[in-house]
Amino acid sequence: MAKYDFDIGILGGGAAGLTVASGAARFGAKTLLIEKENSLGGDCLHFGCVPSKTLIRTANICHLMKNAEKYGLPRVDLKPVDFQEVSKRIQSVIHVIQEHDSKETFCKLGARVEFGNAQFIDEHSVRLNGEMLSAKKWVIATGSSPFVPPIEGIDKTRYITNKELFSLKTLPKSMIAIGGGPISIEMAQAFSRLGTKVTVVELANQILGAEDKDMAEYLMNILISEGITFHLGSMPLGIKDLGNEKEIVIRNAEGKTISMRAETILVAVGRKANLQGLGLEDISMELDKKGLKIDDRLRTNHNHIFVAGDATGSYQFTHAAGYEGGIVLSNAILHLPRKVDYTYLPWCTYTDPELASIGMNEKRAAAAGIPYSVWTEEFRTNDRSLAEGEETGKIKLLLDEKEKPIGIQILGPSAGELISEWVAVMNGNVKLSAIASAIHPYPTLGEINKKVVGNFFSGKIFSDKVKWALKYFFNLKGRACG
Ligand SMILES: Cc1cc2nc3c(=O)[nH]c(=O)nc-3n(C[C@H](O)[C@H](O)[C@H](O)COP(=O)(O)OP(=O)(O)OC[C@H]3O[C@@H](n4cnc5c(N)ncnc54)[C@H](O)[C@@H]3O)c2cc1C
Repeated sequence: MAKYDFDIGILGGGAAGLTVASGAARFGAKTLLIEKENSLGGDCLHFGCVPSKTLIRTANICHLMKNAEKYGLPRVDLKPVDFQEVSKRIQSVIHVIQEHDSKETFCKLGARVEFGNAQFIDEHSVRLNGEMLSAKKWVIATGSSPFVPPIEGIDKTRYITNKELFSLKTLPKSMIAIGGGPISIEMAQAFSRLGTKVTVVELANQILGAEDKDMAEYLMNILISEGITFHLGSMPLGIKDLGNEKEIVIRNAEGKTISMRAETILVAVGRKANLQGLGLEDISMELDKKGLKIDDRLRTNHNHIFVAGDATGSYQFTHAAGYEGGIVLSNAILHLPRKVDYTYLPWCTYTDPELASIGMNEKRAAAAGIPYSVWTEEFRTNDRSLAEGEETGKIKLLLDEKEKPIGIQILGPSAGELISEWVAVMNGNVKLSAIASAIHPYPTLGEINKKVVGNFFSGKIFSDKVKWALKYFFNLKGRACG
């Protein structure tokens, strides 16, 4: 064995770290995976995607039951929600997935898994539980934590974040969610549907700041119709713990000072990379405004130390973490230089309806100075949507000057699934005409993808020029009515 104990060492057993660890071990690299907590899986499994999507499913069923009459069913008089039961279901789903991400699974693949707090003592070695462990390459995949904004009084107030949200003992009667990003908005709707009175406070003048304003407003109006209150353009000035209630004072968009009270305050204003306590300052790691300074091959200023997942401070999604894990594997283990390219990174906010996106939206195209045209189609014209009673939302297709798709946003039922067709189209450089001529099964929500492309082509196909030619060559007689 060379001078290092391992070929590769990974700090963090979440989506990014697990991708690198399993890949490296399977390629035959002597792999060390170190996780701070006492189980693998990271935020996505324990406090993120999995519990949130499980909770959302429960909340959506609750919503359907409350609206049974809309589907021609007798009214259901629901008892108040017992959040401990909801929590039990969440834990049971986590438990099943946890088994796939166990220490034994990774050991079988050939990786050594250790639990504890590791600290770099030099550029190739960490100290873990009193032991020195060295590796030729290292990956920092330590994820992120909720960012807590410096609001006056917040340090003396009991608030919750995604860490506490899924194991609450009771359903809060009321909740103020600080932040209007995906985590806050998904949870605002879920808790509201379960019976909590929810208010959202957001600094910007729209929710879901990365999305186009029309799509975000469309969704916000649906949420308002369900009973959620929004204060946009509002700055929290102070928070106070009054015992059973918490008080928050905000300056709203009109410059007025408003005070509100709720049983629970949810802080969800963004995330910060977990870089503290790793001893990075002792090995002269360079930082920039996002966190660790990295190049497009995910290397730090020490070329053998890589970063992947939320710790990069870039796109904080599980699928981005998995993708970056693959890039690290390619660069660190296979020695095939690969750069990150987020051009076609899709994402989805799992509200009902869902809001999914890939590529350019109007905001991003305008900022990049790319001329574009917009084509839309409403879900209320989709037969399956009507049958499902899910008739809200629309799809928005952006084409560049060469009529090539550069981005799609879908606000509608199962938008996260529908965007997958566009993932294939954009990555495979598929022509729009291929979607227009491909047979989609009827009746499906997916027909909306074909329909929006059809809207683009119909102006060309049914043009006066084509009609004139058909009349000229085949003697068509024209309109039979009106
Ligand atoms: C409520 C919520 C909902 C979300 N929903 C979605 C969703 O629907 N879809 C989606 O794509 N993304 C979602 N995300 C984001 C997703 O959870 C993250 O992007 C993903 O977990 C990032 O993976 P990661 O490996 O970078 O970090 P993590 O999964 O957080 O893993 C990092 C691991 O590193 C460990 N660690 C930290 N410090 C150290 C250290 N010093 N030494 C060793 N180990 C350490 C941590 O304990 C953790 O296990 C959600 C996030 C939240 C909070």
